[in-house]
Amino acid sequence: MNIILIGAQGSGKGTQAAMLAQSLGIRHIASGDLFRQAIDAQNDLGMQAKTYIERGDLVPDNITVRMILDRIEQPDCAAGVLFDGFPRTIAQAEALDSELVHIGRQIDVTVYLSVPREVLLKRLSGRYICRANQHVYNINTRPPKVAGICDLDGSELYQRSDDRGEAVQKRLDIFFNETLRLTDYYAAQHKLEEINGNQGIEQVHEALVRQIREHRDTTA
Ligand code: AMP
Repeated sequence: MNIILIGAQGSGKGTQAAMLAQSLGIRHIASGDLFRQAIDAQNDLGMQAKTYIERGDLVPDNITVRMILDRIEQPDCAAGVLFDGFPRTIAQAEALDSELVHIGRQIDVTVYLSVPREVLLKRLSGRYICRANQHVYNINTRPPKVAGICDLDGSELYQRSDDRGEAVQKRLDIFFNETLRLTDYYAAQHKLEEINGNQGIEQVHEALVRQIREHRDTTA
């Protein structure tokens, strides 16, 4: 099964994607995590992506699409993929669709996790992630057991530079002006579900599992 989770920065998309991928036994692929790993590794991809990411801009489609298509061809993606943060533009969605057709697969369902902008801004101001594995915390609503340290792997927690200042506003503008157009793209394919993301983590998770199951049953 291949699923896309659409949600703004701070919508809880990353947390939900990790939980959902585990429940469904499919691979969680987060484009932002792949870019940050490439930047840490100081490889070519990281060098190409760094300036765009620091400014809060989208990395150009050709770089992003290549990275994702290479990743989903790996054997650990054969059972299915949960896409988190990709696609973000119509061009990316079209490139993904044509590649999936090429390898005899398809997107089964896309879920939009909807959260109002003012709630997103509040959540982002408290968001911290861990250096080693990008586990997400919120110092107001979901703090780690020991301040500044990841509960799961003991690595340092830090606030992303693009979660602050102008970059965060720019990223939300891009989401609401551009990425949200993907909901029309997938609705036209009868593959769109929407969930209220402004609820507790467990409630959102249950709603996601339920909606995906219902979608699968009605389209089977
Ligand atoms: P994220 O962790 O998903 O918020 O992504 C962090 C940054 O990586 C974004 O602000 C973009 O600069 C870049 N990025 C991640 N995914 C994409 C994508 N699908 N297309 C273009 N840029 C992306």
